[in-house]
Amino acid sequence: MRGTSEVTRTVVVRSAPLPRRTFRALVELEGMYRNMVEQLVLYAVNNNVTKFTRLKAEKYREVRSLYPQLPSHYAYTACQDAAERAHSFLRMKKMGRARKAYPEVRSVSIWLDDRLWRAEGLTSISMATHKGRLRVSIELNKHFLRYVNRGWRLATEAKVKLDRRDRRLVLYLTFKKEVSEYKPKDYITVDVNEDAEAVLIDSVVYLFETDLSRVTLGYYYRRKRVQERYDRVYGPGSRPARKIYRRLSSNERALKRDIRWKLAALIVREATKRQAAIVLERLGREPARSMIEHIKNPQLRHRVFQAAFKGLQRAIEEKARKYGVPVIYVDPRNTSRTCPIHGAEIVYGRDRHGVCSRGGETWHRDVVACYNLLLRALGGDGGHAPSRVRAFVAVDGGPVPLGPTAAHEPTPIAREAWARWRSLGATSEHKLMRMSA
Ligand SMILES: [Zn+2]
Repeated sequence: MRGTSEVTRTVVVRSAPLPRRTFRALVELEGMYRNMVEQLVLYAVNNNVTKFTRLKAEKYREVRSLYPQLPSHYAYTACQDAAERAHSFLRMKKMGRARKAYPEVRSVSIWLDDRLWRAEGLTSISMATHKGRLRVSIELNKHFLRYVNRGWRLATEAKVKLDRRDRRLVLYLTFKKEVSEYKPKDYITVDVNEDAEAVLIDSVVYLFETDLSRVTLGYYYRRKRVQERYDRVYGPGSRPARKIYRRLSSNERALKRDIRWKLAALIVREATKRQAAIVLERLGREPARSMIEHIKNPQLRHRVFQAAFKGLQRAIEEKARKYGVPVIYVDPRNTSRTCPIHGAEIVYGRDRHGVCSRGGETWHRDVVACYNLLLRALGGDGGHAPSRVRAFVAVDGGPVPLGPTAAHEPTPIAREAWARWRSLGATSEHKLMRMSA
């Protein structure tokens, strides 16, 4: 189960202001590169090419001969760049979200490979151009040095953009690192709901409110109202409507991303502290979707599913990979139906509370789900007494399982509260673990 994975991060650094002559050469280079990319994208979209290998096979020679003075690898990276643009454009078109017949090549960053650039020490790079190799000194920043000092290695692929106002190069450098997973000593289980995430840590189930479904629905209706109002005044698809629409969408994305990353960071931080594995539900189509059946609009249901279920999991996975935290996936079917102590059915009433049909104790649905995920992670399928005992001994530190009522209730924590936490239940001043976001 233990493995290593490669983690990549992009770091932005700027060059020192460049001499006019150097910068002029780079502007010329950018012009040629842009032209190659524009031609390639046009061809790729017309011929439905989305793969770099095919685009290169069919067009490399032609774009290469356009600018014989340019190092040949620019034609190569232009093919990579164009294939990616064509791919995402054709996908948008398929979903009916492309407004133009062809993608515009608006902003250009020049893609570089190992032949086109190299680092010369920490403070400068050299770049191959039609005017020979140019040496560009870069301004070190904290971010860059942190990756260097922590043993990340600089990848050979990079992108550069021209900052015309300041006559600088902006470099997008990629760092890579192999991270190996530790052997888990403990488990943290996570049960995702549409508006909250139940997390079992040290035998307490915390219910972190995320409001992800509420946020999604709220923005959806706001956008709809804006659209209706503007369509009445300006006609359908007007410019001002599109502008507001875009702003609302980007606010929504930013808010959701913030919620997901903060919660993922909190959980992963607690996991590394305990050297614990994180147990997640294996999200198929059915289990999670059935929980949002009450959302009738299929497009909306898809959005809520992506944001609240898939998105949260992906954030946790990515953070976990960065810190070598093992992630275990278990079958989520019926996790809230069986009593984790007696293995008997739990009968639910109107709210999220139910009663065990054998022991008669009351359970909160999310607490049940968290404990059953733990049991499955320990290798029991819910019918094995040994793993059941192990689970409760491990989490309770004693042979007596949960107390009569208290531990069967989750501890709800509002988003405003946990979003400020650096660690579980601590205020922001308690920086027990320093972990960069
Ligand atoms: Zn029971």
